[in-house]
Amino acid sequence: MNTKRNSDSLIAVIAPLAKQIAVIRQQMHALGMFANDRELLDCPHCGLREDVLISGQLITYREPDFHQDTGLRFEELTPGTFRCPSCCHTVREPLADAMQGEAFSAQPATKRPKPAARAKGRKRKA
Ligand SMILES: [Zn+2]
Repeated sequence: MNTKRNSDSLIAVIAPLAKQIAVIRQQMHALGMFANDRELLDCPHCGLREDVLISGQLITYREPDFHQDTGLRFEELTPGTFRCPSCCHTVREPLADAMQGEAFSAQPATKRPKPAARAKGRKRKA
């Protein structure tokens, strides 16, 4: 009984904060900022990649032009699935793939991509 009352009062406190976070994320998306609500995308077909400037601005680029925003943005088709704006290839969010792999095949941790390999060439801009 007391636990139920405690959880109800906690939910009453958290629910408005969760709504505020959702509004802030919508505002960030509208401003072209990255809201950290998904992983950054890479198109394996044409090489278009996302990154975030120190200002929080989401950009896309092609190596080796790390500072040159193409102005293109990936389009979300379904949660975790996006369309490359350059070549229309369907791109899956990296984390969505990793989580699905764990859920369905239960691969050992050694099969996961190494963080150092992913970080290679993904330096943040100043
Ligand atoms: Zn592409």
